[in-house]
Parts: sequence; structure tokens; C-alpha cells
Amino acid sequence: MYNIVFLGAPGAGKGTQAAAVAQRLKLVHIASGDLFRQAVERGDELGKKVKAYLEKGELVPDRITIQMVLGRISAPESRPGVILDGFPRNLRQAEALDKALAGQGKAIDRVVYIKVSEPELVRRLSRRWVCRDCQVPYPAGEAGVSEKCGRCGGRLERRPDDRAEVVRKRLKVYFAEEAPLIDYYAGLDRLVEVAGEASVTEVTGQIISALSRKEPVAG
Ligand code: AMP
Repeated sequence: MYNIVFLGAPGAGKGTQAAAVAQRLKLVHIASGDLFRQAVERGDELGKKVKAYLEKGELVPDRITIQMVLGRISAPESRPGVILDGFPRNLRQAEALDKALAGQGKAIDRVVYIKVSEPELVRRLSRRWVCRDCQVPYPAGEAGVSEKCGRCGGRLERRPDDRAEVVRKRLKVYFAEEAPLIDYYAGLDRLVEVAGEASVTEVTGQIISALSRKEPVAG
């Protein structure tokens, strides 16, 4: 059992790396942003509640987010361990997560922080296309706008919250809300920092080797 949190600004490659590492370590990838976008797409009760927050690049209220993610963590399919991507996003969520896991005799074993400079984040987000079905991102030019997703054949589209003004807002929210988590987890001696500007495969390799150097906290 191994539970890992991925931290990093929008555009740092969190989603891509979380998916790759989950596959390598046979863990369940839980991406809060993907779950919200799928709910908006379905137009269900949750989707209706969160749509406006996603459009503006603001955080969904903690109560809704914590309930959704904790539900996924305690589902039977998450038994091998999870990689949390996009959650926690602030200290209140981190504390709620610790408390809920402790109640189940579990813990967050490692926190991977993917560090990328701000100009590079803006550059990546302004040219990112994603598959509307499986959410895999593609930098413009790599897969071509009219082409289909190499993984599932889905249509590629721009994420509405990757528009310049929403990107500025999301980065502001990140530095105010999520960045303090880096110190929080460093203080608990869980943090592993990885330079995120290398190639996707190099970054995955760095993460896997950093994780293999430390034992999980809880068995
Ligand atoms: P992401 O795909 O992680 O960039 O998330 C997209 C959007 O979903 C964010 O801008 C928020 O509106 C919402 N969101 C995702 N994760 C969280 C979270 N942990 N807390 C609050 N809102 C979230």
C-alpha cells in the first residue's frame, strides 16, 4: 500500500506524470480536476454545482471537493494505494485528508513536487490541447489540432480554463493556496522535489527513483 500526492502548478506536468507513475507502480490515479470536468460534461448534480468555479479558475468549495475525493479513496478499487493529482489544493484539504486516512490506518507516504518556472508554465498552458475523452494533454504541434488522441482516439480540444485570463487566475490561486503545502509536507518529511523541465520520460524516471529511495510511512 502506497499513497502519493502530486503537487505542482497548472502546467507542471502533474497529470501526465501522475498517470505514468500510477501505471508503473500499479496505483489508482485520482485526478480531482478530471472528476470535476467529467461531472460538468455529464451535467449531473455535482457538475451543475462546480461548473462556474471551473470556468473562472477558482477552487471548488472544500466541502464538495473533500467529499468527492475521500469517496474515491475509500472505494474498493483504491485498495492498492492511490496517486492524488490536484488534491489537496490547500491546507484545509490536506488536514482533512490526513485525518480521514488516519481513521483508516493509512497515511500519505510521499509527496512529489514537480517544480517548473512560471514563464515555462504560461508557455505550456497557452499551447496545450487535451483529449476530451481521456484528458491526455498534447502540446500544440505535437499531435496537430485536427488529429485524434494517440491513446484513445478521442477528439483533441483546448481546455476552456487554459485561456490567458483564466490561466493568470489559476496561477494566482496556486501560489496563494497550494504552494504552502510544499512547506507543510516538507515539515512532515514526506516531500520529494523533482525538476519538471526535463522531458516527460526523464521526469518520470526521476520520480520513480526518488520514490524508491524511501520506504512508505504506513504499511
Ligand atoms: P486541474 O485539472 O487540477 O487544473 O483542476 C481544474 C479545476 O478544477 C480547478 O481550477 C478548480 O476549479 C477545480 N479543482 C480541481 N481540484 C480541486 C481541489 N482540490 N479543490 C478545489 N477545486 C479543485
